[in-house]
Amino acid sequence: MGKMGGKGLSLARRLYTSRILGLVLGLLCVGVAMYPLNPAPWVWGLMLFNGLLWPHLAYQWARRAARPYHAEYRNLLADAFMGGFWVVAMHFNPLPSATTISMMAMNNVAIGGLRFLLAGSAAQVLGGGVGWLIFRPVLVPETSQLQLYACLPLMCFYPLALGLICYRQAHTLGQQKRELLALSRTDSLTGLLNHGAWKDQLEVEFQRCQRQQRGGAIALIDIDHFKSINDTYGHVAGDIVLRQLSKILNQNLRATDVAGRYGGDEFCVILPDLPLNSAATVMEALRDRFATLGYEQNPALKVSLSIGLAAFNPGHTDATLWLNDADQALYEAKSTGRNRVICCGGGRAHQQLLDSV
Ligand code: GH3
Ligand code: MG
Repeated sequence: MGKMGGKGLSLARRLYTSRILGLVLGLLCVGVAMYPLNPAPWVWGLMLFNGLLWPHLAYQWARRAARPYHAEYRNLLADAFMGGFWVVAMHFNPLPSATTISMMAMNNVAIGGLRFLLAGSAAQVLGGGVGWLIFRPVLVPETSQLQLYACLPLMCFYPLALGLICYRQAHTLGQQKRELLALSRTDSLTGLLNHGAWKDQLEVEFQRCQRQQRGGAIALIDIDHFKSINDTYGHVAGDIVLRQLSKILNQNLRATDVAGRYGGDEFCVILPDLPLNSAATVMEALRDRFATLGYEQNPALKVSLSIGLAAFNPGHTDATLWLNDADQALYEAKSTGRNRVICCGGGRAHQQLLDSV
């Protein structure tokens, strides 16, 4: 079983169980309705084949097909064709006929929506036409007590089984949706939030700061001369450095801080409820740890960080203005010699630190 046709294969597997159940219960329902009509041996044979063998045959056929989905579509049409055939063969005995038709309609609409329902109905009419030519039915308007009881298992258990299958399918889809959503917000190399997801968080934090009149800081972190690290040690080593930085961010930040990868070698952090000087202390520690980090594969590799910090300011009318402040601080850190933390409007961070003591 290759990856090709995965959708069709899982459909075939789901239908296998429901078809076994539906057709064996259908055999009971149709067999009891057919019994008083004295059908020919080949009709009994066909009934047994349809009820007991066909589900396995249909599954094997779909499993081996190059396009399982199409094979299963044909199988469903064959189901519907035979359903129509048996309705006419039972001479339209009301309850078994209505049970057969409604269970098939439920099946087809659950699997392929209105399109399948229509295609299935057409196949049913065709099967009914063939049945008509063979059986020349007369209307039997009565369903006996025994025939009524023979319909009950199909009426009770088949909807239950199909409901369960649909529920499981919906549940799996919900789970996959959540996984995809998480993936779409994650940077695959570092496992941090990606650009878009981090910006969403920035917007949330900005609005919270505005509402609650509270402070907070953001930091933009850029690796110094990262291009030359790539050029000297290779991109794999570069990737290791990026992962190391994300690891240090995770270790050094509080659970409430929000770190992301802004893009390339640039990272971003939201530090809620933290005054600028405390944020600067955190970033200085981070810069220090990153600079003293050793790399097993490349002991000579030395890296440093430039960090721009900006506090929330009630004058910011927009989250991007806050981000601009951090960007300007980062630019200043780069242009004044790198390997440093600069606070927006505050100059070098340790200067701020000195001020605060
Ligand atoms: P500066 O000190 O001014 O920041 O210089 P820089 O070399 O760090 O800055 P620049 O923006 O010129 O280079 C960033 C480099 O990061 C360029 C790009 O090839 C590299 N890069 C971006 N994404 C990845 C990645 O996922 N893995 C690796 N290994 N390199 C990346
Ligand atoms: Mg850089």
